[in-house]
Amino acid sequence: MLKLADPNLLRDSLFIDGAWVKPPKCGTFAVQNPANGQQLAALPLAGRDQARAAVDAAARAFPDWAARPARERSQLLRRWHGLVLENVDDLARILTAEQGKPLSEARGEILYGAAFFEWFAEEAKRVYGETIPAPNADQRLLVIRQPIGVCAAITPWNFPMAMIPRKAAPALAAGCTMVLKPASATPLSALALAELASRAGIPAGVFNVVPGGAKTVGDELVTNSSVRKLTFTGSTEVGRELMAKASTNIKKVSLELGGNAPLLVFDDAHLETAVAGAMASKFRNMGQTCVCANRIYAQDGIYDRFVEALSAAVSKLKVGDGFEDQVQQGPLIDEAAVQKTLEHLQDAVRLGGKVLTGGSRHSLGGTFFEPTVISGATAEMLVAREETFGPLAPIFRFSSEAEAIRLANDTEYGLAAYFFTRDNGRVWRLGSALEFGVIGINTGVTSYEGAPFGGLKASGIGREGSHLGIDEFLEVKYLCVADIARPAA
Ligand code: NAP
Repeated sequence: MLKLADPNLLRDSLFIDGAWVKPPKCGTFAVQNPANGQQLAALPLAGRDQARAAVDAAARAFPDWAARPARERSQLLRRWHGLVLENVDDLARILTAEQGKPLSEARGEILYGAAFFEWFAEEAKRVYGETIPAPNADQRLLVIRQPIGVCAAITPWNFPMAMIPRKAAPALAAGCTMVLKPASATPLSALALAELASRAGIPAGVFNVVPGGAKTVGDELVTNSSVRKLTFTGSTEVGRELMAKASTNIKKVSLELGGNAPLLVFDDAHLETAVAGAMASKFRNMGQTCVCANRIYAQDGIYDRFVEALSAAVSKLKVGDGFEDQVQQGPLIDEAAVQKTLEHLQDAVRLGGKVLTGGSRHSLGGTFFEPTVISGATAEMLVAREETFGPLAPIFRFSSEAEAIRLANDTEYGLAAYFFTRDNGRVWRLGSALEFGVIGINTGVTSYEGAPFGGLKASGIGREGSHLGIDEFLEVKYLCVADIARPAA
């Protein structure tokens, strides 16, 4: 049993219209700890009816929430932020239990996610309009920005907490209401956040959580005409399908999708910095992040030294249950994740890749996997084209800057890229030549709530975080006021 200082944060119901509900006719589904298979909770398996009830509640709550002064919405978001910080230890325990990542990483995720509540609590007060010089003397032209309405959010399992405030905080700050469908593997963090929203005084119906069937809940959210906006984080495959469905009633969409991040190490890079960056980018969350370096390229002159240093660092990673002290790598989320990593590994070895460390399932069993490094990777391998989403670091070789740019951009994805160099001119050349939405230069970690996050190409549409993040939840309205020269009779 998961021990929490506040057991009421572990919820096993749906959160609709400010109430915890267990619809009698729903079946249930189990949420399990991937480290040991232990059942953490049995949740009602929501379907179309529950999704519709949540959308109706959000639609009823919208006019009042939108009409509140921004300052009031801001204060409630701040209270939500404060409660997340007060409960960070329990929230981290829930996250590690359902997702597997080490407790220290889970804590980091909670704090990172919480920062979006604080950021957008401030941005709520900065939803400015504009005036436009009019073409005629008796006119005044204005632009105002208004909340778009009910928003549906669908989130993945790899960041069960952080992906939620990135969407809910700007939406609520803008004056929108929301229905969230979290990933079925990790709904408990979302429900704990709903509990804290309720304690913070967020009014009933403003934030609803409906875990359940992707095909039923998800489909209802994306096709229901009361939903005016879909914000989705997940795979490109599902994002494509949802975008097509959202087109039926012309919903606004933001999509944060898959990646295939390149990480380039130039001859002039500082070796230790490049290795630390590659470790942070590749092995965070056991390689299960959308911004994980998927392809690591090292230039001829530094290749051997980099390969040796990275392998040495990876071989020291401690694998185990995320609750154990000093553990840096937990289990993968499920057997499918292990199978995909194995498939990429075996394909790479078949095509000539050399395993330098790791190379198989971990002796701990279950879904634990050995952090792995392969040298001699080539463009023909699956790892060059597909997101592995596991702890496998393939190292490719390149000779020139032009070749590095060509190889890095040779993908349908465009989320994150990284490069390591001490050449100032190269920083600017690559900064504009790489076709990615987020670029880390001499670092493997770029996350910050004040910076815009999002992808190009098949990695998505829209931005989360920064002052741009709230735009995704606003409509622009143009007011043309005429006949102002005539006094009222
Ligand atoms: P996924 O399979 O696309 O699932 C994401 C969410 O969509 C889950 O809540 C899932 O519900 C739901 N879903 C699946 N099929 C659906 C459908 N037909 N209709 C409506 N909803 C549906 O992705 P994942 O495996 O959870 O997450 C990993 C992927 O997310 C990776 O590709 C990663 O790169 C990407 N990601 C991107 C970002 C970013 O910011 N760009 C951040 C994190 C992750 P169920 O869980 O119930 O199936």
